[in-house]
Amino acid sequence: MDIDTLRILVDWKCNLSCSYCCNEQPQIREQIKPVSMKEINFTRYKVVCITGGEPLLFPLRVVAISQLARFSKAFVVLYTNGTFLNATMADMLMRAGVQAINVGLHEPKAFGQIIRKVVLATMGTGISVRFHVCNKYKSLHLEREFPSAVFKYWEMNACDRENEERVVLKDWEDKNYAPTGLSVITKEKR
Ligand code: SF4
Repeated sequence: MDIDTLRILVDWKCNLSCSYCCNEQPQIREQIKPVSMKEINFTRYKVVCITGGEPLLFPLRVVAISQLARFSKAFVVLYTNGTFLNATMADMLMRAGVQAINVGLHEPKAFGQIIRKVVLATMGTGISVRFHVCNKYKSLHLEREFPSAVFKYWEMNACDRENEERVVLKDWEDKNYAPTGLSVITKEKR
């Protein structure tokens, strides 16, 4: 299968520690190549997925990647657990070119709170939002409580994606990337 998607982990760090996290599977982890921003050729991909860890722990990285990917005409999808997504953050993501957000729901007790918060935060941004839930929670019938939300159910341990290249950012320095409006100034000497 042709590789048309780049999945970028902005960092391994996450505020949650899900027992089934794909990043903890050795065979997945060893596929993830450390790269610096200047090594990435965004023009090679139709889709760029920004993920982590929790990417919104590092919003400047998300903004820089999204702007560069959009400049290369890639479709930009952010994967987040939704913890830090508020209206200000959603507005910033929209301005940076993020076109879709996939929100992983991990803590059943917090499902409703996260869904409400994300729906409210992204309202009016034009960003398409989808909630990703493990299929063991299908019985919660979240669609009944949130009929306007879009849900995708995933299977436990289904971490492989044949059409993706996976990388994790290395050598990131905030001082090299200073977003100004809709552009990113790269001060790094190449
Ligand atoms: S929220 Fe996502 S990245 Fe973080 S531990 Fe859970 S599955 Fe892994």
